[in-house]
Amino acid sequence: MKASELLDQIHSTLLQRVSNSLARGTDAREAFGGELQQFFSSLERAMASGNPGWLDDVLVQWTSSPTLTELQQKKNNVAELLNKIIAITNDVAIEYLPEEDALDLLTTVTPIYTYALEKIAHLETEARVAYVSAELTKVQRKLERLDQSKSSFISIAAHELKTPLTLIEGYASMLRDIVAHDADPQADVLLTGVNLGIQRLRQIIDDLIDVSKIDNDLLSLNLQPTSLGKLLRLLRLGLEPVVSERHLELAVRDFPGSELWIYADSERLHQGFRNLLENAIKYTPDSGSIIVDGRTLPGFIEVTIADTGIGIAPENQTLIFRKYSQAEPSLHSSGRTKFKGGGPGLGLPITRGIIEAHGGTIWVESPGCDEVKCPGSTFHVLIPIRTEPQDPKLAKLFGRLQKEQSQPDAQEPPSANPPAA
Ligand code: ADP
Repeated sequence: MKASELLDQIHSTLLQRVSNSLARGTDAREAFGGELQQFFSSLERAMASGNPGWLDDVLVQWTSSPTLTELQQKKNNVAELLNKIIAITNDVAIEYLPEEDALDLLTTVTPIYTYALEKIAHLETEARVAYVSAELTKVQRKLERLDQSKSSFISIAAHELKTPLTLIEGYASMLRDIVAHDADPQADVLLTGVNLGIQRLRQIIDDLIDVSKIDNDLLSLNLQPTSLGKLLRLLRLGLEPVVSERHLELAVRDFPGSELWIYADSERLHQGFRNLLENAIKYTPDSGSIIVDGRTLPGFIEVTIADTGIGIAPENQTLIFRKYSQAEPSLHSSGRTKFKGGGPGLGLPITRGIIEAHGGTIWVESPGCDEVKCPGSTFHVLIPIRTEPQDPKLAKLFGRLQKEQSQPDAQEPPSANPPAA
């Protein structure tokens, strides 16, 4: 007798035993009865034809069927169910068939069951990967939506805060005029405090608006002929009072490319480099040094800002360029230049946004963070050497600048408009 006919003989007993072995309520068993029936019919066909592929449909159905998922209560899987079916087939064949027939049946069915087990392992892995990646996509979408609404909220709140802040500024200025007449020195001190607070608040609001612009790709650049050397020296000059107050050395070296006129947004670069220098000042103890140097690379000018400060741990060297992240969360917002003054963690993300909007890049190198040994940090900034203006009207002017640039005593261009420090 053929093996498939032998299976047919024990078909109903097999079905009954497998169904009984499913440790679930009668309803669920009945619901699954049809699927088991289909399985054994396909198994018979596979045995008759010698093609185990007859089982594919039912196996695919099982691995994706929610009924089955319910039956297996998540802890069991289809492979476990199939192992149960294999064991029961062995038992029933031995119990109900003569020894030789049982051997025939099991010899034929074993390779088909092996195929089914392999197929299930493959399908289950695929289903699990698909499920996990769908869950990840869902979580990612949720996070993106959350980030978007956070960004919109911050942008709206920052814009809303600007109006009352302008009012406070106006009234404080009027008050200062009145107080000036009365010549009360104490009131003057108090008003200076109010003004400092206003300035700081304005800075934070402006930073929040910049961050939301960068988040939404709305940071527009006003490219004008810019000399990085001039810009950095201007910054050095503006920071002179705090540098001497903190007994720091802040040196801006002449480096190859520092006097090159390139198209860049000088105001935005000024803002970005100011953040870097203020950080260098903030995280370098008194009497330390900060050296600004650089070089030209193919297509880029590299500026480095090296300090002898507390340094940055390797695990934080990428993190600090993300919004609202500080290498040391315990820092509080106490000032822009005080040693370890802390802040809202917006400076570096804004600087990165500005540099990247130029087509450049920024990164930091530091042996680690150590407040006693002070290993220091070096920030690297690459700015593309852009010699073509965006605005064709500026092309004529820049042509002249390029000629002047090649002469030894190049003059400052009439259109270059470096910001005041
Ligand atoms: P903030 O200074 O407002 O906290 P930033 O975005 O400017 O925010 O800097 C993020 C963090 O990076 C800082 O809190 C600090 O931990 C770290 N950091 C930045 N620059 C330096 C530096 N030169 N030396 C050591 N740590 C730095």
